[in-house]
Amino acid sequence: MTSDIIRQESANKAGTGKTLHVITWGCQMNVYDSARMTDVLRPLGYRPVEAAEEADMVILNTCHIRERAAEKVFSELGRLRKLGEERRAAGHGRTVIAVAGCVAQAEGEEILARAPFVDIILGPQTYHRLPEMVARAARAGGAVIDTDFPAETKFDFLPAEAAPQTDGNLTAFLTIQEGCDKFCSFCVVPYTRGAETSRPVASVLAEARRMAAGGVREITLLGQNVNAYHGEDGSGGVATLAGLAAELAAIPGIGRIRYTTSHPRDVDQSLIDAHRDNRALMPFLHLPVQSGSDRILKAMNRGHTAEAYRDVVRRLRDARPDLALSSDFIVGHPGETDEDFEATMRLIREIGFAQAFSFKYSPRPGTPAAGAPLQVDEAVKDRRLQALQALLREQQDAFNADMIGRTLPVLFTARGRKPGQIAGRSPYLQAVHVDGPETLIGQTAPVLITQRNSNSLGGVLKRERACA
Ligand code: SAM
Ligand code: SF4
Repeated sequence: MTSDIIRQESANKAGTGKTLHVITWGCQMNVYDSARMTDVLRPLGYRPVEAAEEADMVILNTCHIRERAAEKVFSELGRLRKLGEERRAAGHGRTVIAVAGCVAQAEGEEILARAPFVDIILGPQTYHRLPEMVARAARAGGAVIDTDFPAETKFDFLPAEAAPQTDGNLTAFLTIQEGCDKFCSFCVVPYTRGAETSRPVASVLAEARRMAAGGVREITLLGQNVNAYHGEDGSGGVATLAGLAAELAAIPGIGRIRYTTSHPRDVDQSLIDAHRDNRALMPFLHLPVQSGSDRILKAMNRGHTAEAYRDVVRRLRDARPDLALSSDFIVGHPGETDEDFEATMRLIREIGFAQAFSFKYSPRPGTPAAGAPLQVDEAVKDRRLQALQALLREQQDAFNADMIGRTLPVLFTARGRKPGQIAGRSPYLQAVHVDGPETLIGQTAPVLITQRNSNSLGGVLKRERACA
């Protein structure tokens, strides 16, 4: 999951004249959460606006993973405060400002103290209570804060409406699991998202069926530890991710299933077998390893060795030879030596990644690594990150170049930029453009890849007929 601003979206239904704008920072799960917040405010009459300048209510859905997350929030809040004042001077009512997500969870009191003009502060587990918070904020005239980890699950209280969709409603995110009990040394997630919980199978299937009925063809299952999924199966047992994926694949219309983010420790045999047997599971897996050094993996409290990671990858590739991998890497974790870093480079060379996200370690207050001795010098981190990214870029280029001459099933999701073009995604999430009829949008068709552009692939339709 990535952590830049990735989407600004709005409520999407005409209402009673109130307007809402949601600014989303962070990962796909935040995109999902923002859409659900929009859903719960819809019955209150909030309708879409494209810009914060036009909004009666602005929600800033925050991410705590990256460096100086809180400072970025305060800077954005300063901007929103000014916008609110300008709107008021122009004769509009007061702009309600809400801060949601992981920074709100971790730094709620600090936000209250430093930005007292904020009306609502809510954590990732309480957004189903937003209508009540909006009412309380209006009554109280002061800030309402709700960063509980409530006993009830928010999923049981969300309106049964179509969930967030992208790519013209043909692809969608679906959160199935949240939280984490692994407590990696560097990570804030267990503190901000809470303990690991899974949605019951029936709840996931109901949402997936709604999505399919709305035209969705590809679902990405989301969870901080998605393959630790253990949802109630409705008959007193517990389903694994593999079992859930099998049920999802049986829903008419759902042709593709992805899941992210996985932990190497939770890749069990049933999931490996599913990659062999479940053709809806895409052969592209994001499996973060963080480091190739056992010493550092131990310091990170990852609970696996580099060899265990290699072993999981070998078994996955045996089961599904066309499987490609993506990963996350951290350079400069406290105590990382040149030798440890070399072990990471070795692992990358051995495994070969189609794509990856890599970060310099940066301390997160309250996490064990933040106070650890032997913090690595910034210049050393910079040097290591550059070398690592150069290697990963080389591998990604080679992977994309290797597509030329291959025929890939492409799910077409939109018109292309040029007239007569249509665009879609390969199983490896590469953007693919071809000349073809718009009637193929929403379908999967085989494409012979003939060229590689900077951010996409080009090709020709093998035949203008959708794949089964
Ligand atoms: N649950 C996933 C896993 O176990 O790999 C990762 C979740 S985290 C939201 C996404 C990525 O952010 C991590 O895989 C890690 O590479 C990076 N990250 C998290 N905390 C970090 C920190 N303090 N410094 C640098 N990178 C960090
Ligand atoms: Fe964070 Fe580790 Fe949990 Fe992933 S497994 S969310 S990195 S604590």
